[in-house]
Amino acid sequence: MSEKATMEKIVNLSKGRGIIYPGSDIYGGMGNTWDYGPVGVEIKNNIKKLWWKRFVQENPKTYGVDAAILMNSRVWDASGHTTSFSDPKMDCKCCKQRFRADVIIENHSKGQVNADNLSNEEMQEYIQQHHVCCPKCGNFDWTAIRQFNLMFETSRGTTDESQNKLYLRPETAQGEFVNFLNVQRTSRAKVPFGIAQIGKAFRNEITPGNFIFRTIEFEQMEHQWFCKEGDDQKFYEEYKQTALQFLLDLGIDKESLRFKDHDKLAHYAKAACDIQFKFPIGWQELNGIHNRTNYDLSRHQEYSGKSMLYMDPVTNEKYVPYVIEYSIGADRLMLAVLSHAYDEETLENGETRVVLRFIPAVAAYKVAVLPLQKNLSEKAREIYQRLSKEFMCDYDETGSIGKRYRRQDEIGTPFSLTVDFDTLETGKVTLRDRDTMQQQTLTVDEVIAYVNEKCKFN
Ligand code: ATP
Repeated sequence: MSEKATMEKIVNLSKGRGIIYPGSDIYGGMGNTWDYGPVGVEIKNNIKKLWWKRFVQENPKTYGVDAAILMNSRVWDASGHTTSFSDPKMDCKCCKQRFRADVIIENHSKGQVNADNLSNEEMQEYIQQHHVCCPKCGNFDWTAIRQFNLMFETSRGTTDESQNKLYLRPETAQGEFVNFLNVQRTSRAKVPFGIAQIGKAFRNEITPGNFIFRTIEFEQMEHQWFCKEGDDQKFYEEYKQTALQFLLDLGIDKESLRFKDHDKLAHYAKAACDIQFKFPIGWQELNGIHNRTNYDLSRHQEYSGKSMLYMDPVTNEKYVPYVIEYSIGADRLMLAVLSHAYDEETLENGETRVVLRFIPAVAAYKVAVLPLQKNLSEKAREIYQRLSKEFMCDYDETGSIGKRYRRQDEIGTPFSLTVDFDTLETGKVTLRDRDTMQQQTLTVDEVIAYVNEKCKFN
């Protein structure tokens, strides 16, 4: 990854180039929310499409679902979220700002202390002993640490709200678990098989967000693999590799990724690890992979009263399947891809160009159509229309050609196509490569074949 990619540069580029804007911008923004602009929505959609291709389309044993965000509240009792999906929070009594105690400790110790392993009392003790002051106002006057549930509550809008409490889902996984029987029966699926989903999740995170790394509304891409006990660890190891390979194929290099086993396992988990990425803010979780045993289906069996037993059609054995969970945030992956692609290059003439070096499959626009002069617009628009039937294209006829190239480099467009007077006679155009800046002369049909080939993701 380019060391030049600071969070500030990425945020500014994103805002200035229509990738990502602050949420509710004209009202002064709203903490930890972001809106994707015309360029950003394309990049994020491409990331999701590539994920779906790899995990669903190319995997005949995985079935996709799109479950409701609002679920029966009993789901969250069964999953344990109503009782234990919380963070340790404390308030600064002087500036009234609320913080996560574990994050304060990890920042104070520069990552040396893993606060996940500490109880609230131990965290309190650390803060006292080390006299950790408020990061905002510098005072030392804290409330006690309290657990704070991360789920957003809402209600169904009938008279008695207490009986109709609902939650915005804090993860997409439960939509896959509650549909285990439906999918298994309707698809005549045999264990092992997978259920995948991409969808929004909501968490009342109070930690300052670090751009789209941690937001209160985000998208998850999740894959639950249902298998037999005994096969679980083999699949867990396999999924670690599949997860890593997907990130490498997205163009992220090995040096920016690493596995990190969880120090402390949830009581039901047999194994858990993260794939961490070297974000501009340091090494952080990008992707989680967990062996969740048969905990989830067993809990739903208990709370719903519906049997989750699967009968093996060959051996007639009956069992509640184990689950290997793979979960990655689409927005967090977008940040990883953006920061990894960011580069600054000094040109021969001494100028610096900013380039997002995405793989072509991720880029918002595959080709930018740039007429060299305004009176070539008609021909250029005709070519743009033709290419747009194949892939997303941009069209730009304002400013010098050098400036137009720079704009495309900054949003990562892999190819820029210029239309000149020769095009009117020969039908040939010039195609410039974003990275090498080399140019070649091609017919429009050749451009289509060339670009389609370069955008393949296998
Ligand atoms: P973290 O420790 O960073 O809070 P987590 O362990 O709670 O993450 P999971 O519940 O395992 O995360 O969620 C799976 C994935 O969803 C994470 O690896 C991350 O990519 C993404 N994710 C989780 N919380 C957020 C959030 N608030 N904003 C953006 N992405 C998130």
